[in-house]
Amino acid sequence: MSLLQFIIDFCGDVIRNHESKLYKSYAVDKRVDLTKAEFKEYITIFIFGYINAIYFSLIRKDNPQLVKKFEAMKKIHKHSMCCLLELTRQILVVLYDCLPRCKLDIKSYETYMNSVTLCLNIIKGICFKHFSKVPSFQHQCEEIDFDQCDPNQPLFDLAIVPK
Ligand SMILES: [Zn+2]
Repeated sequence: MSLLQFIIDFCGDVIRNHESKLYKSYAVDKRVDLTKAEFKEYITIFIFGYINAIYFSLIRKDNPQLVKKFEAMKKIHKHSMCCLLELTRQILVVLYDCLPRCKLDIKSYETYMNSVTLCLNIIKGICFKHFSKVPSFQHQCEEIDFDQCDPNQPLFDLAIVPK
């Protein structure tokens, strides 16, 4: 499997898990409408928090499943861990941004998760075609790795993200 496909599948799982949590809290508190596009700002905050959490987890090695996933990515193409996190962040942003929230079926948890999966399967294909043409996957990696990172500082700062 190509690194691109591997990361896209990983991001698809991240989105599915997050949407499952969103629906469960929505079922209790219906103040938010999961089918509205206004949700996007919240999603951006989630993605940055999530990628930073992966970063800290990989440094501390406190999540064996996650470490295994990223070690596997590293074996496919010798990108540094920081580089892999940046590629993952880029794909997660595009994939989540493309999720057509208006098409999500909020009747029940099952219909909701089915609609999320259905939409994801379509946009994962589009995302693959898009990123296949992006050179960031083929570069010779010279990025710094974890041993040069400050484990007390988040890797990504939400404050510097352009809106
Ligand atoms: Zn790289």
